[in-house]
Amino acid sequence: MYITKCDICFKEVEYDNEISIGYLSPVPHYSICLKCAKPIVQFLQKHGLIEKD
Ligand SMILES: [Zn+2]
Repeated sequence: MYITKCDICFKEVEYDNEISIGYLSPVPHYSICLKCAKPIVQFLQKHGLIEKD
């Protein structure tokens, strides 16, 4: 199974629970667990920067 680590809390994140941020901007790829990503995702959605189901 592919396991990566959250770049915020450094916990291991299963692939299904990972959110990748890197495609949004010319920054390196970041992997963030759903728990850490939630406020970020809400912010980005609020400003129409990403779409997520
Ligand atoms: Zn995290």
